Amino acid sequence: MNIVVLVKQVPDTWAERRLQESDKTLDRASVDVVMNEIDEYAVEEALRLKEAAGDGSEATVLTMGPSRAVETIRKALSMGADKAVHLTDEALHGSCALQTSYALAAVLKTLDYDLVVCGSESTDARLSVMAPLLAERLGIPQLSGARKVTVDGPTVRIERQNEVGYDVVEATMPAVLSVVEKINEPRYPSFKGIMAAKKKPLTTLGIADAGIGADQVGLASATSAVESFTNRPPRTAGQVVKDEGDGGFRVAEFLASQKFL
Ligand SMILES: Cc1cc2nc3c(=O)[nH]c(=O)nc-3n(C[C@H](O)[C@H](O)[C@H](O)COP(=O)(O)OP(=O)(O)OC[C@H]3O[C@@H](n4cnc5c(N)ncnc54)[C@H](O)[C@@H]3O)c2cc1C
Repeated sequence: MNIVVLVKQVPDTWAERRLQESDKTLDRASVDVVMNEIDEYAVEEALRLKEAAGDGSEATVLTMGPSRAVETIRKALSMGADKAVHLTDEALHGSCALQTSYALAAVLKTLDYDLVVCGSESTDARLSVMAPLLAERLGIPQLSGARKVTVDGPTVRIERQNEVGYDVVEATMPAVLSVVEKINEPRYPSFKGIMAAKKKPLTTLGIADAGIGADQVGLASATSAVESFTNRPPRTAGQVVKDEGDGGFRVAEFLASQKFL
């Protein structure tokens, strides 16, 4: 079975994130970056499915992102993925979700896959749209929000997380699958895995290599872009209340003034 797993490099959740004044796009250069958290679960699930399918199965990592996104690719390879494709090009800067799905689908069309596995949302843009957009562009079914996956011949079946429990949904492969955190416990890369990752095949593509026109992607033709923004005001020092026998009353008074009570 051939599985392509999508991973996105995002600013670390703990980093102070900001938009650039110049073009109002996310400043990715000056922040610490990590693999999007849910994508670690996607990689883990891709590896488990590959291992269950046995000999000849492969997991390929696909990322669209700037050159430093190669760090995230290496992490997925060190967890155990076999090879990777990195779509990177200045022209992709500022791409919206529709353009991102267009570009990822263009690369996917050149790959041999039974399953495309991705996270259910990224922590930076949080749109949760990539699985359905890719399924539509590739003309294949999507199974979203999986908390459990089983493969039986050409059928892939999931437990889809919902508010009260789960639905069982199935589709015939090829299909796009998005996962939620409940699905597994991602493995840590071993030292051996980290060393092996350095030698695994990594294909770097520009938009021309993937047959993507410069007018199809990037900020100039994005379907959504940031018009204006206001930075969060700096934190104020806060107010210290010294308990002089009336502490409880003063806390209640404060909560009432903020309309919490
Ligand atoms: C108004 C606006 C402005 C934006 N400006 C910028 C910008 O300047 N620079 C910028 O980089 N982004 C920008 N974005 C974000 C960019 O458009 C999103 O990264 C893209 O639309 C994907 O959305 P998402 O990450 O929320 O996808 P989701 O659907 O939340 O992601 C689900 C999964 O899809 C996969 N995935 C998503 N993106 C990628 C990727 N690039 N490569 C591989 N797998 C992926 C991951 O597995 C992820 O877990 C902007 C978005 C908006 C709405």
